[in-house]
Amino acid sequence: MLTDIAISRAATLQPIGAIAATAGIPPEAVEPYGHHKAKIDLSRLPASTAHGRLILVTAISPTPAGEGKSTTSVGLADALNRTGRKTMLALREPSLGPCFGTKGGATGGGYAQVVPMEDINLHFTGDFHAITSAHNLLAAMIDNHVHWGNALDIDVRRIVWRRVLDMNDRALRDIAQSLGGPANGYPRESGFDITVASEVMAILCLASDLHDLEARLGRIVVAYTRDRRPVTARDLKADGAMAVLLAQAIKPNLVQTLEGTPALIHGGPFANIAHGCNSVIATRTALGLADYVVTEAGFGADLGAEKFFDIKCRQAGLKPAAAVIVATVRALKMHGGVAKADLNAPDAEAVRRGGVNLARHIENVRAFGVPVVVAVNRFDGDTPAEFAVIEEIAAAQGCEAVLCTHWAEGGAGAEALAEAVVALCDHKAGQFAPLYSDALSLFDKINTVATRIYRAEEAIADASVRAQLARWEAAGFGHLPVCMAKTQYSFSTDPAKLGAPTGHVVPVREVRLSAGAGFVVAICGEIMTMPGLPRVPAAEGIRFGAEGEIEGLF
Ligand code: ADP
Repeated sequence: MLTDIAISRAATLQPIGAIAATAGIPPEAVEPYGHHKAKIDLSRLPASTAHGRLILVTAISPTPAGEGKSTTSVGLADALNRTGRKTMLALREPSLGPCFGTKGGATGGGYAQVVPMEDINLHFTGDFHAITSAHNLLAAMIDNHVHWGNALDIDVRRIVWRRVLDMNDRALRDIAQSLGGPANGYPRESGFDITVASEVMAILCLASDLHDLEARLGRIVVAYTRDRRPVTARDLKADGAMAVLLAQAIKPNLVQTLEGTPALIHGGPFANIAHGCNSVIATRTALGLADYVVTEAGFGADLGAEKFFDIKCRQAGLKPAAAVIVATVRALKMHGGVAKADLNAPDAEAVRRGGVNLARHIENVRAFGVPVVVAVNRFDGDTPAEFAVIEEIAAAQGCEAVLCTHWAEGGAGAEALAEAVVALCDHKAGQFAPLYSDALSLFDKINTVATRIYRAEEAIADASVRAQLARWEAAGFGHLPVCMAKTQYSFSTDPAKLGAPTGHVVPVREVRLSAGAGFVVAICGEIMTMPGLPRVPAAEGIRFGAEGEIEGLF
């Protein structure tokens, strides 16, 4: 089979105006970026209610064997359209970090891709640049404020706003800044995070409109005073200029799949220290235009789906109608103890052992009142006996497992999945509710996720962490949901514990307030907010080919 980029390049794309017309977007709302991308001016869309059915694509705990959430999201949306349902996609924008690091791209794969993949993966419409600029403007204004007399009494040791860059660059994780004498400010320690880890990214993705965006930017806590009072972006009068920098970025981006399904690709927050899904604006826009909207959340369902439900759906008032849990034979074998090098040998018993991971994710998603279907993303070499085991595991949970071949065959390979999803949406009437109420204390919220989703004995935290949570509750932040930052590889905080571990505890090492995004981050274990490049970065293989075409994205 051809590589992802070769398939993408061979495709004949429709002009973006035609895709907009398919979606019901009038020409006056389309702001083209070249021939195959456009921003949508929401103020020029006809008023419509968000009538579409929202379908979340999530997955089992990820393994190096790969699951294919984006690929399955695209395949499902194409299949829904093929079978006569008016459908749109709402997906995240890829970051340059993983693109040049290990992943090579994030636009689906095989014959289930969003295109043009080179453009979407590299700069796209410049949203990440705008977010980086808005974030760093605030950073510059903090240091500038201190330099010119520090009227707000910012404690330079307690500045919590770092700088960002959309690149994997470990050299910038911890830096000494403002060196070189008085003209350059007060020397202090700081560092860089990757742009997708910026609170500005999370804010852009949770804001309901430009007005809400500016209000949220103003609420960002950037530092504390010597007597520990929070200093906000509004105190620094940075919120207006930051919002202005984001005026284009807040408009959702329209592209297409290989089969011409309209796709809104907008925003891409980290799934650990942020909530890991595309913008509320894109999701709502799609729900107003289409009858079915397929969206995706990062990592496995314990992190991605939980945050999608407890943060995004809670804040935006969204009611998902169904969820698809993507599983693969290969990944379940790894959860069953098979090493990556041995995955090609058929082993139905290993799939059965690893199936405990899938079963737990099914139970968890249902705990939110959302009906579930399992999509088995078929890889070459999978056997019918192995698939039969997955069917059994799903059936024991009272749900269907559907074999999908969209990677090899496009939307035609996911038609059975589309029918199963439509049946869930039409007949089972999901009763979505978040896991916990706003009124619960911040630590009890953390403990609820740890015990009910991760199946831990309990969450534990030092007195200093609990005291910090108490201070935020006293300051009026107690109603916020929590955003759990833990390894995606395990239900526990130990990435080596695959399958469905029990008996573990969840230690909360640190907590951070994202007052603008509207959540409290609980950091459980080592969490990287500025990744490094691997020994052989994907960037080494990216270049122009003989005809000037981009090679090496995959
Ligand atoms: P995720 O969204 O879970 O991170 P992606 O959908 O981005 O995963 O897929 C990751 C990679 O795996 C892509 O390069 C894609 O081409 C590949 N892939 C996905 N499904 C299959 C499959 N069924 N067979 C082979 N490769 C696949």
